[in-house]
Amino acid sequence: MMRVWGFRLAYAAMLGLICSALPAQADEFSKQHRAEMRRFAANNSLFVLYHEVGHLLFHQLELPVLGREEDAADNVATWILLNKRSKQADRTLADAARGWIYSGVAYKSGDSESDYATGHSLDKQRAYQIVCLMVGMDEKAFRPIADEYRIDAARQGACNWDYSTVNRSLRGLLNRGANAPTGTEVTVTYHDPNGAEAAADAFQSSGVFDEVADYVRRNYSLSVPVAFNARSCGEANAFYDPKTVEVIFCYELMEEYMKLSKENLEAASGVGSGKSKIQR
Ligand SMILES: [Zn+2]
Repeated sequence: MMRVWGFRLAYAAMLGLICSALPAQADEFSKQHRAEMRRFAANNSLFVLYHEVGHLLFHQLELPVLGREEDAADNVATWILLNKRSKQADRTLADAARGWIYSGVAYKSGDSESDYATGHSLDKQRAYQIVCLMVGMDEKAFRPIADEYRIDAARQGACNWDYSTVNRSLRGLLNRGANAPTGTEVTVTYHDPNGAEAAADAFQSSGVFDEVADYVRRNYSLSVPVAFNARSCGEANAFYDPKTVEVIFCYELMEEYMKLSKENLEAASGVGSGKSKIQR
């Protein structure tokens, strides 16, 4: 059996929650909302892909991982995006944090004992960790989002220490200077959507898969070729498979984020079932 690190999204549970809210509201869903939905889904997918790159680098570079690998992979994703210092990357992080809040509510993350036994932190913790590293890196720029998440002043201050630790660790492990060899061979393949056409189209046209593949090419010189495969998997997930050195992105995950966004946009505008009101 393939050993993989999945991103964990409970597809079936999500479908049960979301589908009842979708019919009949299609016409009321504005063009602007549609664009927002696609952006949110693409940004969350981008965060997931950098998370998978974290697993890829831990494995291929045989890096030390002190603490839970899933948390460390989230920190890699956040750190890479924060260090882009662009509005688009900041927006991606804000959307990713929001994505964890949404999924935590939709899947009742933390309600089941098994949630505490998994290798992943609870969805809401993953959201707060992103925001903490943001405000920890740049207090002025990211205080508004930390305030929005009601992170108190003392914790916001302590987040600077959290960010410094992550930054020192990852700079030491991943930033090997301007002259470090690059040019990892990465092949990107978009496989047959197999029923997930709209999500597959939105995913491919967003360019996030190619962006992350390019990041690996430009920054690392891994000794083996890496395959980036986007395909239909029968579940909403993304994986790194160390046996095949492959990053797999399932179109169903993009579909999932689009549904999650749509449901919350509808709930916020008073349209739809309102079943999954956003709470923290
Ligand atoms: Zn993972």
